[in-house]
Amino acid sequence: MKTHNIEINPHQLNAYGEAEVEKIIKHELCHYHLHLAKKGYQHRDPDFKALLKQVGGSRYCKSLPDQGKKRVLPYRYKLVCQTCKTVYMRKRKVDPRRYRCGKCRGELKLTTV
Ligand SMILES: [Zn+2]
Ligand SMILES: [Zn+2]
Repeated sequence: MKTHNIEINPHQLNAYGEAEVEKIIKHELCHYHLHLAKKGYQHRDPDFKALLKQVGGSRYCKSLPDQGKKRVLPYRYKLVCQTCKTVYMRKRKVDPRRYRCGKCRGELKLTTV
């Protein structure tokens, strides 16, 4: 599995121009570098923010703003009410103990789809 691939798609080149793409690459390299260094590599981490500022990277990640909206995550989990059997589809794993059925306040059970 290639986890550290840095991909820039041609669509991005057109939308942003080369200078901006270079900044996006720098942004990606910040993730990459910090991840390898086992430092805070996520957007909210101070290490990431500091390094991004240092190298002059883009604030944007790989995806274009309008592409981000189009990307649809598949539903991989469902919460099933144990009382009324209502099913709530979820894209990310959630802790069923933190939620209650919206209809009957019944207990929910998490299963994969
Ligand atoms: Zn990013
Ligand atoms: Zn229910």
